Amino acid sequence: MDQPPRELPHPSAPNQSLDADKTGLSKSKYLAGLQCPLLLFHKAHSPELFPGPDAFTQFRFDQGTAAGKLATGQYVGVTIPAFPIENSVELTEKAIDQGEKYIFEAAFNFQEIHVKVDILVNHGNGHVDIIEVKSSTKVKDEHIDDLAIQCFVLEGNDFDVDQIFLMHLNPDYLHPEGSLFTLSDESDAVDERMSDIPENLQTMRKVLRASEPPEIGIGPHCGKPYECVLKPVCWAHVPELSIFNIPNIRANKWEFYSKGLITIDQLPDWFKGKSYQKPFLDACRTGKPVIDKPGLKAFMAELSEPLYFMDFETMQLAVPIHTGTKPWQQLTVQWSVHTLKKGKLEHHEFIQDSEDDPRVPFITSLLDVLGDTGSIIVYNVAFEKGRLEEIAEAFPEHKPRIDKVIARLWDQYLVFKKFYCDAGFKGSNSLKNVLPVLVPKLSYKDLDVQEGGTAMVEYARMIALPEGEEKQKIKQNLLEYCKLDTLAMVEIHKVLCAGDLEG
Ligand code: SF4
Repeated sequence: MDQPPRELPHPSAPNQSLDADKTGLSKSKYLAGLQCPLLLFHKAHSPELFPGPDAFTQFRFDQGTAAGKLATGQYVGVTIPAFPIENSVELTEKAIDQGEKYIFEAAFNFQEIHVKVDILVNHGNGHVDIIEVKSSTKVKDEHIDDLAIQCFVLEGNDFDVDQIFLMHLNPDYLHPEGSLFTLSDESDAVDERMSDIPENLQTMRKVLRASEPPEIGIGPHCGKPYECVLKPVCWAHVPELSIFNIPNIRANKWEFYSKGLITIDQLPDWFKGKSYQKPFLDACRTGKPVIDKPGLKAFMAELSEPLYFMDFETMQLAVPIHTGTKPWQQLTVQWSVHTLKKGKLEHHEFIQDSEDDPRVPFITSLLDVLGDTGSIIVYNVAFEKGRLEEIAEAFPEHKPRIDKVIARLWDQYLVFKKFYCDAGFKGSNSLKNVLPVLVPKLSYKDLDVQEGGTAMVEYARMIALPEGEEKQKIKQNLLEYCKLDTLAMVEIHKVLCAGDLEG
Protein backbone atom coordinates (compact mmCIF):
# COMPACT_ATOMS: atom_id res chain seq x y z
CA MET A 1 0.00 0.00 0.00
CA ASP A 2 2.84 2.44 0.56
CA GLN A 3 4.62 2.10 -2.77
CA PRO A 4 5.63 5.43 -4.32
CA PRO A 5 3.38 6.49 -7.21
CA ARG A 6 4.68 5.95 -10.71
CA GLU A 7 4.95 9.02 -12.92
CA LEU A 8 3.83 8.65 -16.53
CA PRO A 9 6.31 9.77 -19.23
CA HIS A 10 5.34 12.77 -21.38
CA PRO A 11 4.28 12.11 -24.95
CA SER A 12 5.82 14.70 -27.27
CA ALA A 13 3.45 17.61 -27.68
CA PRO A 14 3.70 21.35 -28.15
CA ASN A 15 4.47 23.18 -24.92
CA GLN A 16 1.27 25.12 -24.64
CA SER A 17 -0.62 26.10 -21.53
CA LEU A 18 -4.24 27.00 -21.17
CA ASP A 19 -3.11 29.53 -18.59
CA ALA A 20 -1.72 31.57 -21.44
CA ASP A 21 -5.32 32.00 -22.53
CA LYS A 22 -6.65 34.80 -20.37
CA THR A 23 -10.25 33.78 -20.84
CA GLY A 24 -9.68 30.19 -19.76
CA LEU A 25 -10.54 29.07 -16.26
CA SER A 26 -8.78 26.83 -13.83
CA LYS A 27 -9.95 25.58 -10.47
CA SER A 28 -8.03 28.34 -8.66
CA LYS A 29 -9.44 31.02 -10.98
CA TYR A 30 -12.96 29.71 -10.46
CA LEU A 31 -12.52 29.87 -6.68
CA ALA A 32 -11.02 33.37 -6.99
CA GLY A 33 -14.01 34.38 -9.11
CA LEU A 34 -16.40 33.15 -6.45
CA GLN A 35 -14.63 35.32 -3.87
CA CYS A 36 -14.46 38.45 -6.04
CA PRO A 37 -14.77 39.22 -9.78
CA LEU A 38 -12.03 41.83 -9.49
CA LEU A 39 -9.68 39.27 -8.01
CA LEU A 40 -10.45 36.94 -10.92
CA PHE A 41 -9.83 39.69 -13.49
CA HIS A 42 -6.44 40.56 -12.01
CA LYS A 43 -5.46 36.92 -11.66
CA ALA A 44 -5.92 36.56 -15.41
CA HIS A 45 -4.69 39.96 -16.59
CA SER A 46 -2.24 41.27 -13.99
CA PRO A 47 -0.15 38.37 -12.68
CA GLU A 48 2.47 40.90 -11.59
CA LEU A 49 0.09 41.89 -8.75
CA PHE A 50 0.55 38.43 -7.25
CA PRO A 51 4.09 38.32 -5.92
CA GLY A 52 3.84 34.77 -4.58
CA PRO A 53 3.53 33.54 -1.03
CA ASP A 54 5.59 34.92 1.83
CA ALA A 55 7.91 32.59 3.73
CA PHE A 56 5.31 31.65 6.33
CA THR A 57 2.58 30.94 3.76
CA GLN A 58 5.05 28.90 1.72
CA PHE A 59 5.96 26.99 4.89
CA ARG A 60 2.28 26.14 5.39
CA PHE A 61 1.95 25.14 1.71
CA ASP A 62 4.97 22.85 2.06
CA GLN A 63 3.38 21.25 5.09
CA GLY A 64 0.22 20.70 3.05
CA THR A 65 2.24 19.16 0.23
CA ALA A 66 3.93 16.78 2.66
CA ALA A 67 0.52 15.74 4.01
CA GLY A 68 -0.78 15.32 0.45
CA LYS A 69 2.08 12.96 -0.41
CA LEU A 70 1.22 10.79 2.57
CA ALA A 71 -2.43 10.79 1.53
CA THR A 72 -1.72 9.59 -2.00
CA GLY A 73 0.85 7.16 -0.59
CA GLN A 74 -2.07 5.16 0.78
CA TYR A 75 -2.92 4.10 -2.76
CA VAL A 76 -0.95 2.45 -5.53
CA GLY A 77 -1.37 4.38 -8.74
CA VAL A 78 0.13 6.62 -11.41
CA THR A 79 0.87 10.33 -11.21
CA ILE A 80 0.10 12.56 -14.18
CA PRO A 81 2.76 15.25 -14.74
CA ALA A 82 1.19 18.72 -14.45
CA PHE A 83 2.81 20.28 -17.54
CA PRO A 84 2.29 20.76 -20.38
CA ILE A 85 -1.40 20.91 -19.63
CA GLU A 86 -2.57 19.36 -22.92
CA ASN A 87 -0.23 16.44 -22.39
CA SER A 88 -1.53 15.94 -18.88
CA VAL A 89 -5.08 15.64 -20.21
CA GLU A 90 -3.97 13.17 -22.86
CA LEU A 91 -2.01 11.11 -20.33
CA THR A 92 -5.00 11.02 -18.03
CA GLU A 93 -7.19 9.66 -20.83
CA LYS A 94 -4.59 6.97 -21.55
CA ALA A 95 -4.31 5.99 -17.90
CA ILE A 96 -8.09 5.63 -17.67
CA ASP A 97 -8.21 3.62 -20.89
CA GLN A 98 -5.46 1.36 -19.58
CA GLY A 99 -7.63 0.65 -16.53
CA GLU A 100 -5.39 2.32 -13.93
CA LYS A 101 -7.41 2.25 -10.72
CA TYR A 102 -5.87 5.24 -8.92
CA ILE A 103 -4.71 8.25 -10.90
CA PHE A 104 -3.07 11.16 -9.09
CA GLU A 105 -3.31 14.71 -10.46
CA ALA A 106 -5.70 13.47 -13.15
CA ALA A 107 -6.24 16.37 -15.61
CA PHE A 108 -9.38 17.29 -17.54
CA ASN A 109 -10.65 20.12 -19.74
CA PHE A 110 -14.22 21.11 -20.45
CA GLN A 111 -15.53 24.36 -21.88
CA GLU A 112 -12.12 26.05 -21.43
CA ILE A 113 -11.95 25.00 -17.79
CA HIS A 114 -8.96 22.99 -16.68
CA VAL A 115 -9.04 20.99 -13.44
CA LYS A 116 -6.81 18.47 -11.75
CA VAL A 117 -8.19 15.80 -9.46
CA ASP A 118 -5.90 14.88 -6.55
CA ILE A 119 -6.95 11.24 -6.62
CA LEU A 120 -9.23 9.88 -9.33
CA VAL A 121 -10.62 6.45 -8.52
CA ASN A 122 -11.35 4.75 -11.81
CA HIS A 123 -14.03 2.07 -11.46
CA GLY A 124 -14.18 1.41 -15.21
CA ASN A 125 -17.03 1.89 -17.70
CA GLY A 126 -16.91 5.65 -17.17
CA HIS A 127 -17.56 5.45 -13.44
CA VAL A 128 -15.19 7.39 -11.18
CA ASP A 129 -14.82 8.82 -7.66
CA ILE A 130 -13.13 12.10 -6.87
CA ILE A 131 -10.89 12.49 -3.81
CA GLU A 132 -9.58 15.96 -2.98
CA VAL A 133 -6.85 16.06 -0.35
CA LYS A 134 -6.63 19.00 2.06
CA SER A 135 -4.27 19.55 4.95
CA SER A 136 -6.96 21.15 7.10
CA THR A 137 -8.47 19.20 9.99
CA LYS A 138 -12.06 19.69 8.81
CA VAL A 139 -14.19 20.25 5.72
CA LYS A 140 -14.63 23.94 4.92
CA ASP A 141 -17.35 25.51 2.80
CA GLU A 142 -14.89 26.56 0.09
CA HIS A 143 -13.79 22.93 -0.30
CA ILE A 144 -17.27 22.10 -1.60
CA ASP A 145 -16.90 24.63 -4.44
CA ASP A 146 -13.49 23.18 -5.19
CA LEU A 147 -15.03 19.69 -5.50
CA ALA A 148 -18.07 20.95 -7.39
CA ILE A 149 -16.08 22.49 -10.25
CA GLN A 150 -14.08 19.24 -10.57
CA CYS A 151 -17.31 17.27 -10.73
CA PHE A 152 -18.74 19.69 -13.33
CA VAL A 153 -15.74 19.21 -15.62
CA LEU A 154 -15.76 15.43 -15.21
CA GLU A 155 -19.46 15.21 -15.95
CA GLY A 156 -18.81 17.43 -18.98
CA ASN A 157 -16.40 14.70 -20.09
CA ASP A 158 -19.23 12.16 -19.81
CA PHE A 159 -18.03 10.48 -16.64
CA ASP A 160 -20.43 9.19 -14.02
CA VAL A 161 -19.07 10.60 -10.80
CA ASP A 162 -20.26 8.10 -8.21
CA GLN A 163 -18.83 9.57 -5.02
CA ILE A 164 -17.01 12.74 -4.09
CA PHE A 165 -14.73 12.75 -1.08
CA LEU A 166 -12.70 15.25 0.82
CA MET A 167 -9.73 13.67 2.52
CA HIS A 168 -8.47 15.84 5.37
CA LEU A 169 -6.23 15.42 8.39
CA ASN A 170 -7.91 13.65 11.28
CA PRO A 171 -8.07 16.14 14.18
CA ASP A 172 -8.19 13.25 16.68
CA TYR A 173 -5.14 11.47 15.33
CA LEU A 174 -2.48 11.03 18.00
CA HIS A 175 0.84 10.06 16.51
CA PRO A 176 1.48 7.20 15.79
CA GLU A 177 -1.88 5.60 16.68
CA GLY A 178 -4.91 5.62 14.37
CA SER A 179 -5.52 7.03 10.96
CA LEU A 180 -3.88 10.31 9.98
CA PHE A 181 -6.60 11.07 7.43
CA THR A 182 -10.37 11.18 7.45
CA LEU A 183 -12.33 10.51 4.26
CA SER A 184 -15.50 12.56 4.25
CA ASP A 185 -18.22 11.84 1.68
CA GLU A 186 -19.30 15.24 0.35
CA SER A 187 -21.38 13.95 -2.59
CA ASP A 188 -24.65 15.49 -1.34
CA ALA A 189 -23.11 18.85 -0.50
CA VAL A 190 -21.51 18.99 -3.95
CA ASP A 191 -24.78 18.04 -5.63
CA GLU A 192 -26.46 21.03 -4.02
CA ARG A 193 -23.73 23.34 -5.31
CA MET A 194 -23.73 22.03 -8.92
CA SER A 195 -26.73 24.00 -10.14
CA ASP A 196 -24.95 27.31 -9.39
CA ILE A 197 -22.02 26.53 -11.64
CA PRO A 198 -23.35 27.43 -15.14
CA GLU A 199 -24.41 30.90 -14.01
CA ASN A 200 -21.17 31.42 -12.10
CA LEU A 201 -19.20 30.49 -15.19
CA GLN A 202 -21.20 32.83 -17.37
CA THR A 203 -20.49 35.74 -15.03
CA MET A 204 -16.81 34.84 -14.78
CA ARG A 205 -16.37 34.58 -18.53
CA LYS A 206 -17.86 38.03 -18.96
CA VAL A 207 -15.34 39.36 -16.44
CA LEU A 208 -12.44 37.62 -18.17
CA ARG A 209 -13.39 38.84 -21.64
CA ALA A 210 -13.84 42.47 -20.56
CA SER A 211 -11.08 44.92 -21.38
CA GLU A 212 -11.49 46.82 -18.10
CA PRO A 213 -11.58 45.46 -14.55
CA PRO A 214 -15.05 45.21 -13.01
CA GLU A 215 -16.01 47.95 -10.61
CA ILE A 216 -16.04 46.14 -7.30
CA GLY A 217 -15.75 47.93 -4.00
CA ILE A 218 -14.16 46.53 -0.87
CA GLY A 219 -16.41 44.48 1.38
CA PRO A 220 -16.65 41.41 3.58
CA HIS A 221 -15.56 39.35 0.56
CA CYS A 222 -12.03 40.79 0.93
CA GLY A 223 -11.45 38.45 3.86
CA LYS A 224 -13.71 35.54 2.96
CA PRO A 225 -12.93 32.77 2.50
CA TYR A 226 -9.33 33.98 2.18
CA GLU A 227 -7.56 37.17 3.10
CA CYS A 228 -7.25 38.71 -0.39
CA VAL A 229 -3.70 39.39 -1.53
CA LEU A 230 -4.89 42.51 -3.37
CA LYS A 231 -5.93 44.29 -0.18
CA PRO A 232 -2.91 46.64 -0.28
CA VAL A 233 -4.19 47.84 -3.69
CA CYS A 234 -7.95 47.93 -3.13
CA TRP A 235 -7.78 49.21 0.44
CA ALA A 236 -5.20 51.93 -0.29
CA HIS A 237 -7.81 54.67 0.25
CA VAL A 238 -8.60 53.47 3.79
CA PRO A 239 -6.52 55.43 6.33
CA GLU A 240 -4.41 53.66 8.95
CA LEU A 241 -6.93 54.61 11.62
CA SER A 242 -10.49 54.13 10.40
CA ILE A 243 -13.84 52.61 11.31
CA PHE A 244 -12.29 49.23 10.48
CA ASN A 245 -10.12 49.55 13.61
CA ILE A 246 -13.10 49.73 15.97
CA PRO A 247 -12.90 46.56 18.08
CA ASN A 248 -15.40 43.87 17.03
CA ILE A 249 -17.38 46.27 14.87
CA ARG A 250 -18.45 43.47 12.49
CA ALA A 251 -21.48 44.25 10.28
CA ASN A 252 -21.85 47.92 11.27
CA LYS A 253 -18.66 48.90 9.51
CA TRP A 254 -20.01 48.00 6.08
CA GLU A 255 -23.18 49.94 6.73
CA PHE A 256 -21.09 53.00 7.58
CA TYR A 257 -18.70 52.43 4.70
CA SER A 258 -21.56 52.22 2.21
CA LYS A 259 -22.60 55.71 3.36
CA GLY A 260 -19.10 57.06 2.75
CA LEU A 261 -18.10 57.13 6.42
CA ILE A 262 -14.53 55.87 6.77
CA THR A 263 -12.79 57.77 9.55
CA ILE A 264 -13.85 57.84 13.20
CA ASP A 265 -14.57 61.58 13.10
CA GLN A 266 -17.00 61.05 10.21
CA LEU A 267 -19.17 58.79 12.36
CA PRO A 268 -22.51 60.25 13.45
CA ASP A 269 -22.69 61.55 17.04
CA TRP A 270 -25.42 59.06 17.87
CA PHE A 271 -22.96 56.19 17.38
CA LYS A 272 -21.51 55.60 20.84
CA GLY A 273 -20.51 51.97 20.28
CA LYS A 274 -20.87 49.05 22.64
CA SER A 275 -19.25 49.20 26.08
CA TYR A 276 -16.10 47.49 24.75
CA GLN A 277 -15.90 49.93 21.79
CA LYS A 278 -16.55 53.14 23.69
CA PRO A 279 -13.04 53.60 25.18
CA PHE A 280 -11.52 53.28 21.70
CA LEU A 281 -13.97 55.77 20.18
CA ASP A 282 -13.38 58.22 23.04
CA ALA A 283 -9.62 57.84 22.74
CA CYS A 284 -9.81 58.54 18.99
CA ARG A 285 -12.17 61.49 19.40
CA THR A 286 -10.25 63.18 22.24
CA GLY A 287 -6.74 62.18 21.20
CA LYS A 288 -6.08 61.07 24.80
CA PRO A 289 -5.81 57.58 26.26
CA VAL A 290 -8.81 56.37 28.21
CA ILE A 291 -7.69 54.76 31.46
CA ASP A 292 -9.80 53.26 34.19
CA LYS A 293 -7.30 54.07 36.93
CA PRO A 294 -9.11 52.46 39.88
CA GLY A 295 -9.76 49.29 37.84
CA LEU A 296 -6.17 49.19 36.65
CA LYS A 297 -4.83 49.76 40.16
CA ALA A 298 -6.93 46.94 41.60
CA PHE A 299 -5.88 44.61 38.81
CA MET A 300 -2.20 45.44 39.26
CA ALA A 301 -2.55 44.89 43.01
CA GLU A 302 -3.15 41.19 42.29
CA LEU A 303 0.54 40.86 41.38
CA SER A 304 2.98 39.50 43.89
CA GLU A 305 6.79 39.48 43.68
CA PRO A 306 8.93 38.01 42.33
CA LEU A 307 7.45 38.72 38.91
CA TYR A 308 8.12 36.32 36.05
CA PHE A 309 7.46 37.67 32.54
CA MET A 310 7.00 34.61 30.38
CA ASP A 311 6.53 33.92 26.66
CA PHE A 312 6.46 30.73 24.56
CA GLU A 313 7.22 30.12 20.90
CA THR A 314 5.69 27.17 19.14
CA MET A 315 6.05 25.13 16.00
CA GLN A 316 3.16 23.56 14.05
CA LEU A 317 3.49 20.47 11.90
CA ALA A 318 0.67 19.28 9.65
CA VAL A 319 2.00 15.76 10.00
CA PRO A 320 2.97 15.12 13.62
CA ILE A 321 6.25 13.34 14.26
CA HIS A 322 6.31 13.17 18.07
CA THR A 323 4.45 10.53 20.07
CA GLY A 324 1.04 11.69 21.26
CA THR A 325 0.91 14.87 19.16
CA LYS A 326 -1.88 15.88 16.76
CA PRO A 327 -1.88 17.42 13.27
CA TRP A 328 -1.08 21.14 13.45
CA GLN A 329 -0.57 20.94 17.23
CA GLN A 330 1.24 23.94 18.69
CA LEU A 331 4.44 22.33 19.87
CA THR A 332 6.29 24.35 22.52
CA VAL A 333 9.89 24.73 21.42
CA GLN A 334 11.18 27.87 23.11
CA TRP A 335 10.58 30.03 26.15
CA SER A 336 11.87 33.28 27.56
CA VAL A 337 11.45 34.43 31.15
CA HIS A 338 12.47 37.78 32.63
CA THR A 339 12.42 37.78 36.43
CA LEU A 340 11.95 41.02 38.36
CA LYS A 341 12.73 40.88 42.06
CA LYS A 342 13.30 43.92 44.23
CA GLY A 343 14.09 45.98 41.13
CA LYS A 344 16.66 43.48 39.85
CA LEU A 345 16.05 42.00 36.40
CA GLU A 346 17.32 38.57 35.32
CA HIS A 347 16.80 36.68 32.08
CA HIS A 348 16.49 32.95 31.41
CA GLU A 349 15.73 31.19 28.17
CA PHE A 350 15.42 27.85 26.45
CA ILE A 351 15.28 26.68 22.86
CA GLN A 352 15.20 23.13 21.54
CA ASP A 353 17.74 23.07 18.72
CA SER A 354 17.19 19.56 17.38
CA GLU A 355 14.30 17.67 15.78
CA ASP A 356 13.76 15.67 18.99
CA ASP A 357 10.52 16.04 20.95
CA PRO A 358 10.95 19.41 22.69
CA ARG A 359 8.22 19.14 25.31
CA VAL A 360 10.00 17.48 28.25
CA PRO A 361 13.21 19.56 28.10
CA PHE A 362 10.97 22.60 27.56
CA ILE A 363 8.86 22.04 30.66
CA THR A 364 11.55 20.79 33.04
CA SER A 365 13.83 23.74 32.30
CA LEU A 366 10.89 26.14 32.63
CA LEU A 367 9.64 24.73 35.92
CA ASP A 368 13.13 25.05 37.39
CA VAL A 369 13.21 28.76 36.61
CA LEU A 370 9.68 29.66 37.72
CA GLY A 371 10.14 28.68 41.37
CA ASP A 372 7.14 28.26 43.67
CA THR A 373 5.95 31.78 44.39
CA GLY A 374 5.31 35.05 42.59
CA SER A 375 3.09 36.09 39.69
CA ILE A 376 3.79 34.80 36.20
CA ILE A 377 2.93 37.51 33.70
CA VAL A 378 1.96 36.45 30.19
CA TYR A 379 0.39 38.29 27.29
CA ASN A 380 -2.95 36.74 26.33
CA VAL A 381 -3.14 33.92 28.84
CA ALA A 382 -5.14 31.48 26.71
CA PHE A 383 -2.09 30.68 24.61
CA GLU A 384 0.43 29.88 27.37
CA LYS A 385 -2.24 28.23 29.55
CA GLY A 386 -3.38 26.03 26.66
CA ARG A 387 0.15 24.87 25.91
CA LEU A 388 0.85 24.13 29.60
CA GLU A 389 -2.35 22.11 29.86
CA GLU A 390 -1.41 20.09 26.78
CA ILE A 391 2.00 19.24 28.26
CA ALA A 392 0.38 18.34 31.60
CA GLU A 393 -1.97 15.97 29.81
CA ALA A 394 0.78 14.37 27.75
CA PHE A 395 3.21 14.10 30.68
CA PRO A 396 1.07 13.66 33.80
CA GLU A 397 4.14 13.34 36.03
CA HIS A 398 4.59 17.10 35.58
CA LYS A 399 0.92 17.95 36.06
CA PRO A 400 1.02 18.91 39.77
CA ARG A 401 3.79 21.47 39.20
CA ILE A 402 2.23 22.73 35.96
CA ASP A 403 -1.13 23.24 37.71
CA LYS A 404 0.61 25.41 40.29
CA VAL A 405 2.20 27.47 37.51
CA ILE A 406 -1.19 27.90 35.81
CA ALA A 407 -2.67 29.15 39.08
CA ARG A 408 -0.02 31.91 39.18
CA LEU A 409 -0.62 33.24 35.64
CA TRP A 410 -1.58 36.90 35.30
CA ASP A 411 -2.57 38.34 31.92
CA GLN A 412 -1.04 41.70 30.95
CA TYR A 413 -3.23 41.73 27.83
CA LEU A 414 -6.27 42.25 30.09
CA VAL A 415 -4.85 45.62 31.14
CA PHE A 416 -5.46 46.84 27.62
CA LYS A 417 -8.65 44.92 27.06
CA LYS A 418 -10.30 46.27 30.20
CA PHE A 419 -8.56 49.30 31.65
CA TYR A 420 -6.32 51.14 29.22
CA CYS A 421 -7.11 52.22 25.67
CA ASP A 422 -5.07 54.41 23.35
CA ALA A 423 -6.02 55.30 19.77
CA GLY A 424 -2.43 54.45 18.85
CA PHE A 425 -3.17 50.78 19.53
CA LYS A 426 -5.36 51.01 16.40
CA GLY A 427 -8.05 48.89 17.94
CA SER A 428 -5.80 45.91 18.65
CA ASN A 429 -4.32 45.10 22.03
CA SER A 430 -1.60 42.84 20.68
CA LEU A 431 1.86 43.33 22.13
CA LYS A 432 3.10 44.53 18.75
CA ASN A 433 0.50 47.33 18.76
CA VAL A 434 0.76 48.33 22.41
CA LEU A 435 4.56 48.41 22.69
CA PRO A 436 5.32 51.25 20.23
CA VAL A 437 2.82 53.49 22.04
CA LEU A 438 3.89 52.76 25.61
CA VAL A 439 7.58 52.06 25.09
CA PRO A 440 8.59 53.68 21.77
CA LYS A 441 12.31 53.18 22.45
CA LEU A 442 11.89 49.39 22.30
CA SER A 443 11.39 48.00 18.82
CA TYR A 444 11.45 44.74 16.88
CA LYS A 445 12.63 46.60 13.78
CA ASP A 446 16.34 45.93 14.32
CA LEU A 447 15.89 42.19 14.81
CA ASP A 448 16.42 39.62 12.06
CA VAL A 449 13.27 37.83 13.26
CA GLN A 450 10.45 40.33 13.88
CA GLU A 451 7.26 38.32 14.14
CA GLY A 452 5.91 34.89 15.03
CA GLY A 453 5.38 33.56 11.49
CA THR A 454 9.00 34.18 10.53
CA ALA A 455 10.11 32.73 13.87
CA MET A 456 8.35 29.46 13.05
CA VAL A 457 9.84 29.24 9.55
CA GLU A 458 13.32 30.03 10.85
CA TYR A 459 12.92 27.53 13.66
CA ALA A 460 12.06 24.76 11.19
CA ARG A 461 15.14 25.71 9.16
CA MET A 462 17.37 25.81 12.23
CA ILE A 463 16.53 22.39 13.63
CA ALA A 464 17.10 20.77 10.24
CA LEU A 465 20.62 22.21 9.97
CA PRO A 466 23.73 20.40 11.21
CA GLU A 467 25.82 22.08 13.91
CA GLY A 468 27.60 25.08 12.45
CA GLU A 469 27.68 28.81 12.02
CA GLU A 470 24.34 29.17 10.24
CA LYS A 471 22.48 27.08 12.79
CA GLN A 472 23.99 29.14 15.62
CA LYS A 473 23.08 32.40 13.92
CA ILE A 474 19.42 31.44 13.45
CA LYS A 475 19.28 30.13 17.01
CA GLN A 476 20.65 33.43 18.30
CA ASN A 477 18.10 35.41 16.22
CA LEU A 478 15.26 33.32 17.63
CA LEU A 479 16.49 33.74 21.20
CA GLU A 480 16.70 37.51 20.72
CA TYR A 481 13.18 37.63 19.30
CA CYS A 482 11.61 35.74 22.19
CA LYS A 483 13.69 37.70 24.71
CA LEU A 484 12.36 40.97 23.31
CA ASP A 485 8.77 39.74 23.80
CA THR A 486 9.31 39.33 27.55
CA LEU A 487 11.45 42.45 27.84
CA ALA A 488 8.61 44.36 26.17
CA MET A 489 6.26 43.08 28.88
CA VAL A 490 8.73 44.19 31.58
CA GLU A 491 8.96 47.70 30.11
CA ILE A 492 5.19 47.96 29.74
CA HIS A 493 4.87 46.87 33.36
CA LYS A 494 7.24 49.67 34.41
CA VAL A 495 5.12 52.22 32.53
CA LEU A 496 1.95 50.90 34.19
CA CYS A 497 3.61 51.14 37.63
CA ALA A 498 4.98 54.62 37.04
CA GLY A 499 1.74 56.12 38.35
CA ASP A 500 1.82 59.17 36.09
CA LEU A 501 -0.50 57.76 33.46
CA GLU A 502 -2.56 60.31 31.60
CA GLY A 503 -6.27 59.85 31.57
S1 SF4 B 1 -9.21 43.26 -2.03
FE1 SF4 B 1 -11.40 42.89 -2.01
S2 SF4 B 1 -12.19 44.11 -3.71
FE2 SF4 B 1 -9.99 43.90 -4.03
S3 SF4 B 1 -9.76 42.12 -5.34
FE3 SF4 B 1 -9.58 41.44 -3.26
S4 SF4 B 1 -11.59 40.78 -2.66
FE4 SF4 B 1 -11.82 42.04 -4.51
